[in-house]
Amino acid sequence: MTEKIEASKRNVSFFSIAMVLITVVLSVIALFLGFATYESQDPSALPYMLIGFIGLAISAYLLLQTKRKSLKAAFEMPQVITTILCQKCGFKNIRDHKRGDYIFKETEPCQKCNEKTMIASIYREVKEKEK
Ligand SMILES: [Zn+2]
Repeated sequence: MTEKIEASKRNVSFFSIAMVLITVVLSVIALFLGFATYESQDPSALPYMLIGFIGLAISAYLLLQTKRKSLKAAFEMPQVITTILCQKCGFKNIRDHKRGDYIFKETEPCQKCNEKTMIASIYREVKEKEK
């Protein structure tokens, strides 16, 4: 097997999910065999169960890894920012865009004076890549 990490970044998650599935299936089979032999009081039941548990642990670890990866990918997506402006004191609040936000919409009371606030602008935060 040759490792081409750069060539197929998108296939990595697919392969890791396939790996997890295979590991889960194999470890479940091992556990099943372990319990089956355990009932017949065979001493060979222990290694089967051990393999099963280790397999499940590995698959759980792999699953966590892929989850972390997808979380990171989601975090890198462009963020939409909503700017809220207080009509009375001019207090400006910036928060993440929520569904249903639109410009001139009245939102939560002002943090300073408790007056009505209005959404002043909604924009996409662009991260410029410098070389
Ligand atoms: Zn205010």
